[in-house]
Formats: sequence, structure tokens, C-alpha cells
Amino acid sequence: MIVALYPGSFDPITNGHIDIASRASRLFDKTIIGIFSTPEKKLTFTIPERVELAKEATAHLKGVEVISYSNITVEFAKEVKAQVLVRGLRAIGDFEWEFEMAMMNQMLSPGLETVCFMASQEYQFLSASLIKEVASLGGDISSLVPANVAAALKKKDLNKK
Ligand code: ADP
Repeated sequence: MIVALYPGSFDPITNGHIDIASRASRLFDKTIIGIFSTPEKKLTFTIPERVELAKEATAHLKGVEVISYSNITVEFAKEVKAQVLVRGLRAIGDFEWEFEMAMMNQMLSPGLETVCFMASQEYQFLSASLIKEVASLGGDISSLVPANVAAALKKKDLNKK
């Protein structure tokens, strides 16, 4: 039984994230989307909101669960008995950071393997922060996020500082 943990801030979950979770779910027996509660970035959605949006958006995927966590990722991986960390790689910008993280996690938890999925072509340019910026300016992001996320972005006052 191979359990994979797909960690991130998912603020909010996008179609790019869902694509990775869906592809991971075909390889692993269980894929846990781990939503880190307090990343070092300004968050738009609260942890219950991020969890709810991700749960609704992945309800159709067999073997995918959503759980929030607040400890270090390698410890959370142990708690949920994950042998694999899943990450997504976009062509521009992701590699160096993901490589550094993978090396650090390997040092902290030998045996926990990082598996990177290449982002699908249509989601290469897609990031949660760009989605929020475009949505705050009234742009149409409905083809890039699940319907529940598009609705939640509409409701949020994204210009609130
Ligand atoms: P983090 O705060 O760890 O960067 P994110 O939620 O932004 O968390 O991203 C989680 C993972 O999903 C990262 O590995 C990131 O590279 C990947 N990812 C983000 N957007 C996309 C996308 N459009 N396509 C594929 N992977 C993506």
C-alpha cells in the first residue's frame, strides 16, 4: 500500500493542483492533499476554507483525501504513513526551490521519496497567486479553477489589505 502526501498551501486549490492530485491518484493507493496551515506567505483563505474548497473540488477523485496540518511536512508524512511526497513542477521557476526542498526533506527523513509530476501544458502558467491577482481585477478565471473556487473568489474581497 503506497500512500502519497501532496503538501502545499492551496490558497486556493486550482485546476493545476487538481491535475497533479488526479494523476498521483492513478499511481498511488492513497493520495493525501496536505494543506499546510501557516506558510510564510500572505493567505487569502482560512484553513477551514482552503480545506473545504479542496474537499469539494476533489470529491470525484478516488483515493484522494484532504487533511490540514501545522507541523513540519516530514513529521506529518510520518503521521499519515506516507512513503512519497508529491510535488508539481512548472517549466519556469519551480525546479530550484523544489530541488532544495527535496534535498532537505531527504536529509530530515531518509526514505521518504519526493516524486515530481511535470505540470500539464495547459497549467504551466497557472499559480494561485496569479489567479487571485486576476480575480481581484475582475478577470475571468473560471476555466482555471473549479466552480466552487471561482464562486469563493467572487465572494472574497480580494482588495482588502
Ligand atoms: P507551496 O506553498 O508549497 O508552493 P502550493 O499550493 O502553491 O504550495 O503548491 C503546491 C505544489 O503544487 C507545488 O509543488 C507547486 O509547484 C505545485 N503547483 C502549483 N501550481 C501548479 C500548476 N499549475 N501545475 C502543476 N503543479 C502546480
